[in-house]
Amino acid sequence: QVKRAGRHDFRFFTAAMQQRAARHLQVVNGLRHALEREQLRVVYQPQVSLKTGRICGAEALLRWDAPELGAVSPAEFIPAAEESGLIISIGDWVLRQAVRQARRWLDAGLPPLVMAVNLSAVQFRIADLPSQVAQILYEEGLPPEYLELELTEGVALQDPQGAIATMTQLHDRGIRMSIDDFGTGFSSLSHLKKFKVYKLKIDQSFVRDISTDVEDKAIVCAIINMARSLGLTTIAEGVETLEQKEFLREQLCDEMQGYHIAKPLAPEEFERMLSRQRDSQ
Ligand code: C2E
Ligand code: MG
Ligand code: MG
Ligand code: MG
Repeated sequence: QVKRAGRHDFRFFTAAMQQRAARHLQVVNGLRHALEREQLRVVYQPQVSLKTGRICGAEALLRWDAPELGAVSPAEFIPAAEESGLIISIGDWVLRQAVRQARRWLDAGLPPLVMAVNLSAVQFRIADLPSQVAQILYEEGLPPEYLELELTEGVALQDPQGAIATMTQLHDRGIRMSIDDFGTGFSSLSHLKKFKVYKLKIDQSFVRDISTDVEDKAIVCAIINMARSLGLTTIAEGVETLEQKEFLREQLCDEMQGYHIAKPLAPEEFERMLSRQRDSQ
């Protein structure tokens, strides 16, 4: 196929590649200064109990407003931050912001919730990660049971034994862990028992067509049932419709998160939602 491509096609191909490489460089260079230029902010998406209908958690999601690049989605800049190593300092900043925010909401007398923070596999491999996380919790005055670290199945790919050791240390410090995008990776189910995980986040790709696609339905039910028999909590991601929500509730999924409840919100908006809930109690 490559051989048959004419000169014109080839040039088009390299031009596109060059453009992509240039953009990647711009993103990495921009990211280098994003923290000091205060271009990063954290938004919070509610997680709701399907039993009570109440907010039981928040997922911290990073946003980058880069004046010279426009809005850059996490799907683009997180991988760039990982490749360049910048995710270490940026991830540390997100964790501290989220922990501080959780402490503030507790201090304001709002209903207690678990703050979920995404952790990149790169961060996960830092040797003293467990003590670094514990240090942030200590400095910000948040008890560990209010924090949840979202890991992906990828953290265990390279070094399952090392991953289990790190997770055991986090677990021993009282920090909860969940597996994000569950079902999209290749983690062995036998590992689940050894991983000190307490929650599975069912990936939104399975939730999307849950009402119509029999296979997605079967996958979601299998995950929920497996989790239940292992004593794990389940949360469905990307819930956008009432129909999806009702299905998940019938299948005894524990929690949900998605546009049906709310998009990721600025701290003030999230706080308003939490206070409304408190006042209706
Ligand atoms: P994720 O952790 O799986 O987060 C869920 C993504 O789904 C978020 O995208 C969220 O805005 C989006 N979402 C939530 N509800 C719905 C829904 O009902 N429908 C649809 N279509 N989407 C929904 P976002 O914020 O663009 O983040 C994308 C990914 O970037 C995240 O996936 C996560 O892997 C990564 N990410 C975001 N913030 C951070 C961070 O602070 N650190 C790290 N390491 N990764 C992050
Ligand atoms: Mg996540
Ligand atoms: Mg996810
Ligand atoms: Mg994801």
